[in-house]
Amino acid sequence: MCGIVAYIGHQKAFDIIIKGLKRLEYRGYDSAGVALQNNSSLNLYKKKGKVADLVSFIGKKDTNGSVGIGHTRWATHGPPNDANAHPHVSGHKKFALVHNGIIENYSVLKKELIQRGHQFNSDTDTEVLIHLIEEIHTNSKRKLTLFEAVRIALSEVIGAYAIVVINKENPNELIAARKSSPLVVGIGDGEFFLASDATPMVEFTKNVVYLEDGEIAQLNLDSGLKIKTIENQEKTPYIQELEMQLEALEKGGYDHFMLKEIYEQPQSIHDSMRGRIRSSKGLVSLGGIKDYEEKIVNAKRLIFVACGTSWHAGLVGEYLFEELARIPVEVEYASEFRYRNPVINEDDVLIAISQSGETADTLAAIKLAKEKGATIVGICNVVGSSISRESHCGSYTHAGPEIGVASTKAFTAQVTVLTLMALMIGKKKGTISTQRFNRLLVDLESIPEKVESTLKLDKSVKEISNIYKDSSNALYLGRGINFPVALEGALKLKEISYIHAEGYPAAEMKHGPIALIDEEMPVFVIATKDASYEKVVSNIQEVKARKGKVIAVVTKGDREVKEIADYVIEIPSTDDLLVPLLATIPFQLLSYHIAVMRECNVDQPRNLAKSVTVE
Ligand code: GLU
Repeated sequence: MCGIVAYIGHQKAFDIIIKGLKRLEYRGYDSAGVALQNNSSLNLYKKKGKVADLVSFIGKKDTNGSVGIGHTRWATHGPPNDANAHPHVSGHKKFALVHNGIIENYSVLKKELIQRGHQFNSDTDTEVLIHLIEEIHTNSKRKLTLFEAVRIALSEVIGAYAIVVINKENPNELIAARKSSPLVVGIGDGEFFLASDATPMVEFTKNVVYLEDGEIAQLNLDSGLKIKTIENQEKTPYIQELEMQLEALEKGGYDHFMLKEIYEQPQSIHDSMRGRIRSSKGLVSLGGIKDYEEKIVNAKRLIFVACGTSWHAGLVGEYLFEELARIPVEVEYASEFRYRNPVINEDDVLIAISQSGETADTLAAIKLAKEKGATIVGICNVVGSSISRESHCGSYTHAGPEIGVASTKAFTAQVTVLTLMALMIGKKKGTISTQRFNRLLVDLESIPEKVESTLKLDKSVKEISNIYKDSSNALYLGRGINFPVALEGALKLKEISYIHAEGYPAAEMKHGPIALIDEEMPVFVIATKDASYEKVVSNIQEVKARKGKVIAVVTKGDREVKEIADYVIEIPSTDDLLVPLLATIPFQLLSYHIAVMRECNVDQPRNLAKSVTVE
């Protein structure tokens, strides 16, 4: 779920690992630890809390050595405490291991290992792994290498894992493996890096290998990188070049990554469209889905699967595809879809949306749909991620690394790519008039500029934030394509300011939530000039009649809503289908300011992890 960083080479491992773990902090965690190999001894330090707590606990203790493994834990089995923090060591204290994920059959394995005399020091599922590796390594009839012992141990394990194993007696080697949890190998000059994503290694190397599910890697300073499958098949490492820039991983003068990422949206939306749209020629083309264009055009149904914010992007996608390409769409929570025995046919197209491309439930949904013959389209932000590799085709969002846990620029990039995709398919299918198509292209190209002017509203959004920062509840209302924007606005507020918020289709209010409205309750409404404008105005009247406070996002120049709402936020006008890309911005800023005013940890909200690689 959270972070792994490991190093073997000629530099001081500790410094690289700590810096790397800090880079991965955005993923969310509750404890941290390192194991460092030095002169045939293994120094182990683990601490509940932040990486900074670990560093101050270590103080002046021995951190020498050029081989080490580090971990940030997001507890699944056993509370966050020092003993449960990783690394975990074998009984004979020669091996240590870090693990992200869940070992599902840990209790059966643990019982067997206890019978064989192993003693456990933590409540984690992880600890069984290192005892199992030790058991196989020491008690096998033939003499096994650690690599072999890890391979055999993993063939007995059910679950999800990214692991790295260090051997106190072999300073030349680290062993790593993955299944359903990400792990990247960085190849330097006489050195190797390992991490859950490429961010800890960008300043050291651009050459990376993304391990595939079921692969084990041996990183040996003499013999190099060797990869095998758990079934013992040799694999040739596929080395890719990283495109990530170091600056993208730093705050660049902003107080928080989230604010920086909100402000990056004119650029990230532009980057998501770059080379894919040309209004002067009437062109939209997503190269990554070209080979499957016919399949999508002829799809009987599109199924969007996603979680959290990406699911909201999927809901926007539903309006876009139904309107522009006239294909029936279902939008599913990946976690529900995968366990529902869903009806999937060969002419269904499943569109999986995930920022990290590692979301466990979305990956499982992909595998299920693939088995049933559906075509899989992936929309992810992280290049080389598992979802991008599991999909038949897809499009990257090109938002750049998103470090703030609460998603902002990844959401607008997903909506941008979905808009391009719907336009491309609609054009091919002939379900959209040339006039509308051309107008939409022009409007879409001007969105980055309009986002730029929407961001100028920051000051007034901050004033509104100050008025409502002490609310305990908030309601977000929208209709049509702006209903998902209401959901996303409410989610943002919940995630980072811990204020209870609900998003509703405005007309549904009468069927329940209207009971909540009183003079204390801020109601945020998207009331832009579109097909449902008049209806939304009536919904606002209903709120006002019950003394609710209305803060409305309206189209620039609006008069009607201005007269009845308590506050309005005026955004530039654009095509109805593109409003979500603008209307979502004030809500991001509002959540940000409220969270800062409430002194919440904006970039790492409590209990949340950036990429949810466990189900
Ligand atoms: N399941 C393991 C534990 O609870 C690993 C959690 C993680 O991925 O950080 O310790």
